[in-house]
Amino acid sequence: MNNDRIGARLRSALGHAFGAETVIAGEAGYDDARRVWNGAVDRHPAMVAFCRTSSEVAAAVLAAREVGVPLSVRGGGHQVAGLSVCDNGLTIDLSTMCAVSVDGGISHAGGGSLLRHVDTANAQAGVVVPAGVVSHTGLGGLALGGGFGWTFRNFGLTCDNIVGAEVVTADGRIVQAGEQDDADLLWALRGGGGNFGVVTRFDLGGVSGLAKFCAPGKPAWDAARGYFAEQCENSSQWSGGIVVYPTFDSPKILPGGFKLPDDLVDNDVARGQKLILVQY
Ligand SMILES: Cc1cc2nc3c(=O)[nH]c(=O)nc-3n(C[C@H](O)[C@H](O)[C@H](O)COP(=O)(O)OP(=O)(O)OC[C@H]3O[C@@H](n4cnc5c(N)ncnc54)[C@H](O)[C@@H]3O)c2cc1C
Repeated sequence: MNNDRIGARLRSALGHAFGAETVIAGEAGYDDARRVWNGAVDRHPAMVAFCRTSSEVAAAVLAAREVGVPLSVRGGGHQVAGLSVCDNGLTIDLSTMCAVSVDGGISHAGGGSLLRHVDTANAQAGVVVPAGVVSHTGLGGLALGGGFGWTFRNFGLTCDNIVGAEVVTADGRIVQAGEQDDADLLWALRGGGGNFGVVTRFDLGGVSGLAKFCAPGKPAWDAARGYFAEQCENSSQWSGGIVVYPTFDSPKILPGGFKLPDDLVDNDVARGQKLILVQY
């Protein structure tokens, strides 16, 4: 079956009630819709479906099953071999499912969130979730495959911090995985890649109680380096990392009584950079 016929059959299987945007081969926007981070990847799915809800993801999974074609799932599209896009099948794109909220130190992140969505929400809540170093990497592929970054020596891999998830399984069910419900599925998600279903929401534990300050550009880094040097000299127990975030209010006094010189403190968002010093 060629892509035109598969695309038409997928549309028919999805039905009129399916509200998500779909693009099939030959339609305007098709080449943009099939693109991934690695420009050398040149796969041709019959359809890309931009799902917005777990119900739409479930409908897409069932449609691919009904038509009998391959299914792929795209989070941030960073995976270097381009596995998130398939030939002659249905690619589910999760990029619109990128809302992140933080509640009681737990981040609830849509399955298509990029790291910048996670970091931005967490920075505002004063929480750090260990993740990667590039803001446009997808949380989905990174978290399901491990995930390491600036803070992993202190706080482990991203997958170690998955405490729950909403998952659309291969039979189209929407299930909640957690320590209490479906603990085996939760275990599998912590490093098992995308092999156990489509994760439409990640629940991620984080590290809170962080010191925050901001200062403009290079002086901020110099101050941070000084802070680290002082802490390391004064305590063999101390260990930490630095996360740079763009904005918000900041105390001038850091843990251990370290005082940031007044002339380095700058709450002007346009000029300043926020440093979060992670201590445990
Ligand atoms: C520029 C760059 C920087 C990187 N930096 C880091 C880093 O600092 N630390 C690190 O650990 N890794 C890093 N990586 C590697 C990255 O973590 C992996 O490529 C990861 O797979 C990217 O996830 P994604 O969602 O963007 O990828 P995608 O290509 O969208 O997906 C990768 C795989 O995961 C599956 N998948 C994605 N989302 C879901 C979901 N919600 N549910 C089920 N399956 C899903 C896909 O089907 C596919 O099989 C980097 C990669 C690049 C290109």
